[in-house]
Amino acid sequence: SPLIEVRGLTASVKETGQQILAGVDLTIREGEIHAIMGKNGSGKSTLTKVLVGHPHYEVTGGTILFKGEDLVGMEPEERSLAGLFMSFQAPIEIPGVSNFDFLLMAVNARREKSGLPALGPLEFYSVVSPKVDALKMDPKFLDRNVNEGFSGGERKRNEILQLSVIGADLALLDEIDSGLDVDALEDVANAVNGLLTPKNSVLMITHYQRLLDLIKPSYVHIMESGKIIKTGDSSIATQINEGGFKSIALV
Ligand code: ADP
Ligand code: MG
Ligand code: MG
Repeated sequence: SPLIEVRGLTASVKETGQQILAGVDLTIREGEIHAIMGKNGSGKSTLTKVLVGHPHYEVTGGTILFKGEDLVGMEPEERSLAGLFMSFQAPIEIPGVSNFDFLLMAVNARREKSGLPALGPLEFYSVVSPKVDALKMDPKFLDRNVNEGFSGGERKRNEILQLSVIGADLALLDEIDSGLDVDALEDVANAVNGLLTPKNSVLMITHYQRLLDLIKPSYVHIMESGKIIKTGDSSIATQINEGGFKSIALV
């Protein structure tokens, strides 16, 4: 059965009622990597935000089933505990909470849900420390407040650290390649690839072939005007890079 099944999803900006998603259909099975490409403003970020239950948007029609459960009625926190992870295109700062404490709380919330005993700080340090090393992050990073004063690249690495510590059945990665230099992109891609198992899946949004060369998608979708208008294999991405979106035949 599919991990997530989106059918005819429509959604609007809550405050103004402006429709952004105009009937999205998308199915992701366990172990698959999907990429969404599309022009600026086509609704890619809105789709991922709606999937995680961002409060600025209202679902006005269609369905989202995650592991067979209806996501639409669930709070963002419940969706996260159910195994959905999202990296934000512009991650938020959490003043007064260190990265270490944030990650420990997130991990223990999930352990509690699975009936496992909470990890103490020392135990957790031995879990998180190798992951910090793998992402070539300074260990001092853990003592800093979440995202406070982070450079763009540090934020991206930190999001992938969160993903690798917390884990996810479906990770939604919105432009994790933006603002990363080639080396940083490789570290981040290696970390994502290291998390992939036959059970979990990734949906990534990108404008760039270089990310898709590092994290190889099973499917590439093109989004336009709030809909997925074409789905194919990674050759679509190559075509877009060479000839732009106009080079894609939409039938
Ligand atoms: P993409 O990620 O594909 O660049 P977005 O999903 O960010 O596109 O945005 C799609 C369209 O919806 C854009 O025209 C954007 O301005 C509009 N939009 C998204 N969120 C809001 C919002 N909260 N308020 C007003 N307009 C929005
Ligand atoms: Mg955008
Ligand atoms: Mg976007």
